[in-house]
Amino acid sequence: MSHSNTFDLIVIGAGSGGIAASRRAAAHGARVLLIEGTRIGGTCVLRGCIPKKLMMYASEMRGCFADAGAFGWSEVSADFDIGRWTQAKDRELNRLEGVYRQMLESSGVHTLLGHARLAGERAVEANGQRYLAERILIATGGAPSTTGIPGLDLAWTSDDVLQLTELPRSLLVIGAGYIAVEFASILSQFGVQVTMAYRAERPLRGFDEDLRQHAAQALEARGVALHAGVRAQELVRTAHGFELRRADAAALSADAVLNATGRRPNVGNLGLDTVRIATDAAGAIPVDADSRTAARGIWAIGDVTNRVNLTPVAIAEGRAFADTEFGGRPARVSHDNVASAVFCSPPIATIGMTEAQAMERGPTDVYVSRFRPMKKAFVGSQEQTFMKLIVERGSGRVTGIHMLGADAPEIIQGLAIALSAGATKQDFDRTMAMHPTSAEEFVLMREPARRHG
Ligand code: NDP
Repeated sequence: MSHSNTFDLIVIGAGSGGIAASRRAAAHGARVLLIEGTRIGGTCVLRGCIPKKLMMYASEMRGCFADAGAFGWSEVSADFDIGRWTQAKDRELNRLEGVYRQMLESSGVHTLLGHARLAGERAVEANGQRYLAERILIATGGAPSTTGIPGLDLAWTSDDVLQLTELPRSLLVIGAGYIAVEFASILSQFGVQVTMAYRAERPLRGFDEDLRQHAAQALEARGVALHAGVRAQELVRTAHGFELRRADAAALSADAVLNATGRRPNVGNLGLDTVRIATDAAGAIPVDADSRTAARGIWAIGDVTNRVNLTPVAIAEGRAFADTEFGGRPARVSHDNVASAVFCSPPIATIGMTEAQAMERGPTDVYVSRFRPMKKAFVGSQEQTFMKLIVERGSGRVTGIHMLGADAPEIIQGLAIALSAGATKQDFDRTMAMHPTSAEEFVLMREPARRHG
């Protein structure tokens, strides 16, 4: 084995987590090999957060055009061409991929394109070559799950929607999680007739109940038809498109279908058996608080571990691993109080406990504000902004912050610092409002809407 095939660290997967871990380890002086099967960037950059948000920006322009007249502009009429958006998006992703490639190069990370497979402890095979390292990090991410309902593999996944050159007339979205809600909202604003079918009573299971209710109302206001409590039996292709057959014998049909029933860890053909790593019930690689797998010298981070499947969490896990193992700076990621956003219209953002979770913990005060934002009221829209603070009564600490409304993700990111720092309701109260904003409502909530316990 030549020296050129021996490294301090081999990272499998050049997504957000793998790139962050590689660069940080290299910065600590490690000789790093990063192996990626397709393109540099991973789900977030190439198939997820970034192109999705670019698509959201495109969809929001419809609202601007619609409101422009009321603000004194001459009427704006405009057509949307998804093909042009896709081309422009591809150019931008190529640019970003180049930026990542450049960053890896300047960090001294060796990159290799090819499918990597574990070949025993400390060994990885790719492109017919064997590479050795004292430490191996698995950061292979996840992919859409296509097995939940018979026929689901006929449907588009989010990857396909981000590559469209033509819009369907109608779209059936199966599922009601992040991806379902975001794309239903975005495509409805492009003029697609969207229907959502999901098994729960409301979209966004796990979110605060009030947020779920407002999300459902906001989707309906955008023209999305909601079908809750759907027991799906089979998805079939018909002469005109697709049909989702339901257990109650009814059926939902559309020109196209988006499978948004969740994602599964990428562990296929990874050679986990060669190192005796067994996946859990969700197909994920089990790890401890320091991202160690059951195999010596092998760690795993990000979506392949199915902890909190969000880009910044994978990045933090990757950096904590590198700082601990190569930087002499032991670090551990807390998975508590991770803020997250759903980029629907208006967007949702949330951090901390839901009202239901807080009530279980002890006496809780709930502050709520609901209003028509100035910009929308001005044009006669009924669109509402919703805000909620969850406060632990004994300590006065704010333990949950939830919002649906324009700029919610930007606002909640700022407030997340206050929550993480342990801010109390009193701290919020003595913060001077910034006027006129929507965010100021968070420091102007006087009386609890509800008191529990
Ligand atoms: P989610 O886990 O958020 O949602 C999956 C949805 O599919 C749920 O509504 C679930 O229903 C439903 N479902 C699952 N299995 C079945 C089945 N067999 N039949 C019918 N319905 C089913 O997954 P997503 O794919 O939307 O997103 C994956 C992850 O990616 C998210 O959890 C999130 O971590 C991340 N993500 C984050 C984004 C952001 O931060 N803005 C954007 C997109 C993704 P039920 O609730 O009843 O189980």
